[in-house]
Amino acid sequence: MKIYDVVVIGGGVIGLSIAYEIKFRHSKIKVAILEKTQTGYEASHASAGMLEPQLIMPRQNLSDREKAFFRLCRESQNMYEETIRRIEYHSRMDCEYRKEGILKLISPEMDPKPWLSWYVGLGMHAHFWSVEQTGEAEPALREGMAAIHLPDNHQVENRKLSAALAECCKNLGVDILEYSAVESIILNNEAIDHLQTKTGTVSAARYVLAAGAWSSQIPGLTQTIPEIKPIRGQIVAMQMPKPDFIRYPAYLEDFYYVPRNSGRLLIGSTVEDAGFDKAVTPSVIVGFIEKLRALIPQSKTFESVERWAGLRPCSADRLPLLGETRLTNLVVATGHFRNGILLMPITAKLIADMIITGKPSPMLAPFSPSRFNGSTNA
Ligand SMILES: Cc1cc2nc3c(=O)[nH]c(=O)nc-3n(C[C@H](O)[C@H](O)[C@H](O)COP(=O)(O)OP(=O)(O)OC[C@H]3O[C@@H](n4cnc5c(N)ncnc54)[C@H](O)[C@@H]3O)c2cc1C
Repeated sequence: MKIYDVVVIGGGVIGLSIAYEIKFRHSKIKVAILEKTQTGYEASHASAGMLEPQLIMPRQNLSDREKAFFRLCRESQNMYEETIRRIEYHSRMDCEYRKEGILKLISPEMDPKPWLSWYVGLGMHAHFWSVEQTGEAEPALREGMAAIHLPDNHQVENRKLSAALAECCKNLGVDILEYSAVESIILNNEAIDHLQTKTGTVSAARYVLAAGAWSSQIPGLTQTIPEIKPIRGQIVAMQMPKPDFIRYPAYLEDFYYVPRNSGRLLIGSTVEDAGFDKAVTPSVIVGFIEKLRALIPQSKTFESVERWAGLRPCSADRLPLLGETRLTNLVVATGHFRNGILLMPITAKLIADMIITGKPSPMLAPFSPSRFNGSTNA
């Protein structure tokens, strides 16, 4: 049996960043990650990497929990650049963190005022760009589009981020056990005794569950973890003629595009309840390409170079599950839904704090798994 101080179940950005953060702060703590396949190959690979709170849309009366969620997102945004620089230093890899901001596109029939007052009311920086200003900043856009520029909403190349986090973990001495799916959890009273994995048994003083969309599927935990559903998102990558042909990530209603340094332009996405099916639907891809052509006329010459789908981990209220569970040595960090890349720094910090000091931050309280009746008792 392998024995550790802390075992993290799941090697997406959430599990990797927690393991890295614990090891960075306390090099003597023995940490392992158990990963079903390869690290960073599920939702964290499929993502678009926009660092923008994607749940909150203009409406009255946010609940206290939604307000707390927004504060969590803002705190994570504020931590991002410093966290990325540290990850790049420890991994010697570039995560392509980009700070040009994101555009909320305003078509001629849309009124920008409710959006502007919404963003400003939330304390975000938001600047209205007229049709002329937008055309100057993004010449490839079709004529007649205005925009709201959101300068605090940055982006990161999420595949590079996952790879860099795995490298940080290796360089700092985290054991990464790939192809070691946790198959069952053996309990002893109100605690985990040990884990049965595909490659042997593993035991630890503390466990962190960060298995993304699979978090409530693991035998032995189905009564402990509130349901996490997989919500499929599809994306197609197009190749632009040159990397800065389109400069800003942008969205219009439920459609977005994100330019990468490589000259790829990611376009998406869907929000589908399709179980664990990661198939890509040709009609959806055609729909994305048509929407792009309506916004960027010259995109008719772009070649489609890759298409994929990923499964976002989604709780019943679409907010994360963070914190203690009814099992005394199990902490959960999952359910990040559309915001897991954005929420990486704050999740890693708060969960590592809790593991190291034994004290949960008050910021975690609104996201306790115990909010779902009859599930866990934090
Ligand atoms: C199309 C799409 C676009 C997105 N765009 C954005 C965006 O722009 N910005 C943003 O912030 N977020 C975005 N997201 C959401 C973001 O990608 C996720 O919230 C985030 O990646 C979740 O990370 P995770 O580590 O929890 O899950 P995952 O990356 O899915 O990792 C979970 C890991 O657990 C492993 N695992 C599962 N079961 C077991 C087991 N039994 N034993 C061991 N390991 C196990 C899996 O193999 C996997 O590697 C997007 C997601 C999708 C699909």
